[in-house]
Amino acid sequence: MRTVLVFSPHADDAAIFCGGAMARFADEGWRVVLARVTDDRFDSVGLPVAETLRRTAEELHHSAAILGVSEVVELGFVTDCLADTPLGTLRERAVRLLRQYRPHTVMSFDPADRFEDNQDHARVAQAVAEAFWVACFDKHHPQHLAEGLAPHTAAERWYFSRRGADTNHVVDITPQLARKIDAVCAHQTQMRNVVNQVRLQFQAAGRPVPALDHAVAGGDLRPLVQAFVGGAARAIAQEAGWDAACFAEAYRREGTDALEDLI
Ligand SMILES: [Zn+2]
Repeated sequence: MRTVLVFSPHADDAAIFCGGAMARFADEGWRVVLARVTDDRFDSVGLPVAETLRRTAEELHHSAAILGVSEVVELGFVTDCLADTPLGTLRERAVRLLRQYRPHTVMSFDPADRFEDNQDHARVAQAVAEAFWVACFDKHHPQHLAEGLAPHTAAERWYFSRRGADTNHVVDITPQLARKIDAVCAHQTQMRNVVNQVRLQFQAAGRPVPALDHAVAGGDLRPLVQAFVGGAARAIAQEAGWDAACFAEAYRREGTDALEDLI
C-alpha cells in the first residue's frame, strides 16, 4: 500500500489546500497520514485558549475522518510562532516522519511561494523541502537509525500555495468536492476566525457586511465555505480548460521526471 504524508501547519490547511486530493488518494486505496505541526491555540474568536485547543483538535479528527485519513500525527508546536522555532528542530521532526511512514508522496506548502505571508506555512515548507534530502543521509540524526528507522525519501513532492504559482499538476476532484467542503466545514472554530478576519478588513474599509457579522456570531458557515472552496476549485478547472462541471486542485509537483533521461 502506498502512503501519502501531508504536512499541515495548522489543522485546517490540509482540508482547504489539498483535501480533494487526500480524499482521492484514500479512494484509490492509499494510506493517508496527516501531520498537524502546530496546536492552533490562538485560532478562534472569543474563546479561551484551553477551549480552542480542545475544539481544534476535535475538529481536526472529524475533518480527517471525512477525508479518509488513516492516521493523524500531532507535532504540537505553539501556533503562529514557528518563525521563532529553529529550522533544524522542525526539519528533524519532518525527517523522522519521512523515515517512520516511508511515503511515496509528500504534500506541503510550497517553499518557492514568495507571496506567502504566514510564517508557519513558510517555515514548514522550508523544513519539509530540506527534510526531503536530509532524510536520505545515513549520518543525519543517527538517533533515528538507532531506533530502527532507515534513510528514506519520497518519490514525489506535491506543493500547494495560496496563489498556485508554477502549477504543473492539476488534479480532478469533482467526485471528492462534497467531502472536501464537509471537511473544511468541520473546522468550525478556525473558519469562524477566518471569516472574522475578512469582516474586520471590510469594517476598516468602511463597508460592514451583515452576512459576515452573522457568520462570526454563530451563523451557518456552510454557504460561505461552499462558495469559497467550490469557487476556487472551479476556477482551477476552468483555467486548465476543463469542462464547466469539473472541479480541481493545483500543485507544483516534483518527481523523478528530471532524472528520467539520465536513468
Ligand atoms: Zn495555516
